[in-house]
Amino acid sequence: MSAHAAAAQPAAITLRGVTKRYGGHVALKPIELEIAEGEFFCLLGPSGCGKTTTLNLIGGFIAPTAGEIFIRDERVDRLPPHRRSVNTVFQSYALFPHMTVRDNVGFGLKMARIPSSESAGRIEEALGLVGLETFGERLPTQLSGGQQQRVAVARALVNRPAVLLLDEPLGALDLKLRKRLQVELTQIHRDVGTTFVYVTHDQEEAMSMSTRMAVLNDGRIEQIGTPSEIYYKPNSRFVADFIGESNFLEVETGSQSGVVRLADGRGVPCNSSATGRATLMVRPEAIHVSDPHDAPESSLKGKIVQTSFLGSQTRIAVSCDGVSLPLTASQFGRERLAARELTPDREVSLWWDADDAVLLAKESMEEEVE
Ligand code: ATP
Repeated sequence: MSAHAAAAQPAAITLRGVTKRYGGHVALKPIELEIAEGEFFCLLGPSGCGKTTTLNLIGGFIAPTAGEIFIRDERVDRLPPHRRSVNTVFQSYALFPHMTVRDNVGFGLKMARIPSSESAGRIEEALGLVGLETFGERLPTQLSGGQQQRVAVARALVNRPAVLLLDEPLGALDLKLRKRLQVELTQIHRDVGTTFVYVTHDQEEAMSMSTRMAVLNDGRIEQIGTPSEIYYKPNSRFVADFIGESNFLEVETGSQSGVVRLADGRGVPCNSSATGRATLMVRPEAIHVSDPHDAPESSLKGKIVQTSFLGSQTRIAVSCDGVSLPLTASQFGRERLAARELTPDREVSLWWDADDAVLLAKESMEEEVE
């Protein structure tokens, strides 16, 4: 789903000008956000950027300092959590230790006074969704961490909320289990069709699970988009740096089409109609490494400083004249030079397709514009 298409659907959640201050500290600067029905939307960013604050505002655990929050068409920012059609799954499973799995899952239905004739079927359905149909009579202590978290998901889904909020739900699990539950959660999301809003600081997790995501930085949304939009078209150096690996070059644009210039006047490939100083970003996998005789005109000559064989790829760090940090290139399978030829001190040329280079406005220029 593209960012544009998603915005055209009815919104499950809308945040308008939402701000949160804690005393003198601004945790969230005014935020505009629209999450469509049925999305798996990730809030991604480094520690302290405001992800949990955003989730807690939607869930009603804290009140905004300013702004409006809507769930579907209802304004909810003055409503307590239990009056909002949301449920939350936390990192700590927060299951009742003395209750069986079935009773934990059914707890919300009991509170809502749903008759047992109806709730029994809904509990079984929720347990089925998370693959725990045969675990109903166990106590939480008789389950693994991953199973406990699946109970927490079932407990949150059994009330059929419009929105499921998940705050780093896999954070306490080891990497292998985490990967498995990532797949399971995306399957559960597809099965129930509920809108999921998922907080994580793990970019791989966000990339692999979300339909769209927001990258937050210091209380601001830097960019909203699908994983591939964010990866291939980052709109700032922060996003490019935070998601995946990037090479950055300081360039001057506007002198010739298809080429931008380094400080010493050498041209490197980039399609841009902008003029002025900018940072060019190119991903390691977009960089071709070739013998200098084989390279096109707008390529960069350099010397290999390090070669790392990583199985599925070989990573090469190349020091280029006039470029402050070595550039990193990833070579997969059969490339122009065989891995054994990529030895340190060897002279090579680096180049890339103009469409694979992304021009990022200088942050100082952005500040001047603001
Ligand atoms: P993490 O990944 O570490 O959980 P986060 O992105 O979820 O981080 P938040 O918990 O939303 O970050 O916090 C955003 C900012 O607000 C941080 O600077 C944090 O210190 C501050 N903050 C959060 N809760 C409070 C509070 N109750 N009182 C004061 N400051 C707070």
